[in-house]
Amino acid sequence: MVAKVEITFLGTADAIPTRERNHTSILLNFEGENLLIDCGEGTQRQFRIARLNPCKITRLLITHWHADHVLGIPGLLKTLELSGYNKTLYIYGPKRTERFIKDLFGLFAIRPSYKVVVEEVHGKFFESEDFLLMAEKMDHTLPCNAYSFVRRGKRRIDKGKLKRYRIKEGPLLQKLQEGKSIRCNGKKYSAKDLTYLEPDTKICFILDTVFNKKAISFAKDSDILICEANFGAELEDKAKERKHLTSKQAAEIAKKARVKKLILTHFSQRYDKNPEQILEEAKEIFDGEVVLAKDFYKIEI
Ligand SMILES: [Zn+2]
Ligand SMILES: [Zn+2]
Repeated sequence: MVAKVEITFLGTADAIPTRERNHTSILLNFEGENLLIDCGEGTQRQFRIARLNPCKITRLLITHWHADHVLGIPGLLKTLELSGYNKTLYIYGPKRTERFIKDLFGLFAIRPSYKVVVEEVHGKFFESEDFLLMAEKMDHTLPCNAYSFVRRGKRRIDKGKLKRYRIKEGPLLQKLQEGKSIRCNGKKYSAKDLTYLEPDTKICFILDTVFNKKAISFAKDSDILICEANFGAELEDKAKERKHLTSKQAAEIAKKARVKKLILTHFSQRYDKNPEQILEEAKEIFDGEVVLAKDFYKIEI
């Protein structure tokens, strides 16, 4: 069985929180990794309410340095220290992130007892046997990154074929899994004959950007696109001025990128009473599955 990716929305508001929605933060769990995408004010408390342990965070991915995406960082770093965090914390972000982290450490007298590695990233910036991480520049009022997480499909043994060719399970199968050929019952079998490759799974995060073509190419063929929809379609001019997306523009990105599922987030408080407006408008454009995220909404893939 392929290891599951679990995504928890810890905050789904924009710059102004509401009773129901906290500032932006999304946690992605995959095997031993916990990636936190943005850390708005109050994110630590959202961890508590969701009964999640912030000390399990391995990497912090910052989209950009607007307060609603980063104000939770100083408190979180302090909590990790007080809790005896003993891993290396990787912090990724767009241009100027090293400078901002330095300023933050100075401002709040943060001297972590654990190792912190800060990287300004673009393109593919992390790769392991199991997953990879990519960043792409978006167009916002500050340098801003979109991110994607790709779970690599594994080579799997076709058990039906083993049976058909009367190949017994055993150490030979390890070779097949590594993509090598084997010899069995006097015959040679290549890995291709007896195995298949699972497809990759791509999850893309686009927060705070004006509509742009790079967003479409970056989100291309995502299984899940998590995208901001700060405004309804009636406020297209305001969205353009503030460099944000409307419901319809987010759906347009999903449609053109041929994503399977679109999850909208980062809503203006003006839609708190009627978030369905955003959903309906998005559905007019994108005919795949569309969901409005809310705080503590969880999905598995
Ligand atoms: Zn924002
Ligand atoms: Zn912003």
